[in-house]
Amino acid sequence: MTSLKSFHTFGFSAHAKKITHLNSVADIKSALPLHRPFYILGGGSNSIFVDDFAGEIVKINLRGIECNETQEDFGIKVKAGENWHEFVEYCVKRGMYGLENLALIPGTVGAAPIQNIGAYGREVSGFIQSVDYIELATGEAKSILQADCGFGYRDSIFKHELSDKVIITAVNFVLPKKWVVEQSYGELANLSNPTAQDIFDKVVKIRQAKLPDPSQLGNAGSFFKNPVIGKPLLKSIREKWPAIPSYPVSDEQCKVPAAWLIDQLGYKGKTLGGILCHHNQPLVLANTGIGTGRELLQFARKIRDDVLVTFSIKLENEVRLLTTNGLIDL
Ligand SMILES: Cc1cc2nc3c(=O)[nH]c(=O)nc-3n(C[C@H](O)[C@H](O)[C@H](O)COP(=O)(O)OP(=O)(O)OC[C@H]3O[C@@H](n4cnc5c(N)ncnc54)[C@H](O)[C@@H]3O)c2cc1C
Repeated sequence: MTSLKSFHTFGFSAHAKKITHLNSVADIKSALPLHRPFYILGGGSNSIFVDDFAGEIVKINLRGIECNETQEDFGIKVKAGENWHEFVEYCVKRGMYGLENLALIPGTVGAAPIQNIGAYGREVSGFIQSVDYIELATGEAKSILQADCGFGYRDSIFKHELSDKVIITAVNFVLPKKWVVEQSYGELANLSNPTAQDIFDKVVKIRQAKLPDPSQLGNAGSFFKNPVIGKPLLKSIREKWPAIPSYPVSDEQCKVPAAWLIDQLGYKGKTLGGILCHHNQPLVLANTGIGTGRELLQFARKIRDDVLVTFSIKLENEVRLLTTNGLIDL
């Protein structure tokens, strides 16, 4: 058994039967067929091993960045194992703008399309042209266009039809040369005529101040997704909780910050065993160092159930939870 402690940012002392490192497309092809249970792993910042894993972990390490330019755009092919934040920094330093709001999100480029990473008013899907992958059943190299990726809020085809069926080998980005600033989010709005570098620096600063660094305190970012609810439900919650924040997503629906719901129930700073609901950001559950998978599930289920009873809203986990034989939902 191999320890998974350093392979996921939550830092539980789980083990896997085997870890295979894949450094090239040739490595991927020669590793096929994969036998179940297996789990494809990037940086492990959205994956929590709540128990020992009975199968093989396939760790994706492909590296390399290629840039092309037209009069209007920069086209960039980035291999799946590149570090996301380093890639964003690489772009900003070379005058290729658009991704700066997504600075300091941990993990790999290959995982970015899986949950359509987003922050500070931007989602990665807005800059993806296509995604290259190897189909596990056939070993064939394929590419899927952005429009066919089914991107939504923390969602894509890779969590549904293509889940466990492909290994992403590269993501093809297109960054328009005509840069449009996105500064509608909170503290970014205070910047006057910011450059892309200013946005990058500010995002890094805000994130460092607000979010726990996984190397200091094990965590996987937001544990729950922000729920999308119907407007009639919002109206009825407002009668008792007039301060509930909401952001429209369509004529019928709006998004509510899960952190606000959890905060109203007094969980901020509370612990269950070795699991902490973070003081600055109650959406983040953290491992104080002695936490166990069982405690995490118990705490997360308690929060989910309390939110359901109080607000009639069912929280869903944003993180991927792995037990002995694979993914589970809360
Ligand atoms: C402190 C912190 C802050 C965070 N902030 C944000 C944020 O602001 N916004 C946001 O969206 N997310 C955020 N996250 C979550 C996380 O960083 C992202 O989901 C990231 O994209 C995960 O990358 P990873 O390589 O670590 O993925 P992993 O956890 O390794 O894998 C995630 C999923 O992708 C699959 N996968 C990974 N690589 C491949 C591949 N090459 N081919 C096929 N499948 C693959 C895995 O099987 C798994 O299902 C945060 C996490 C932390 C710890």
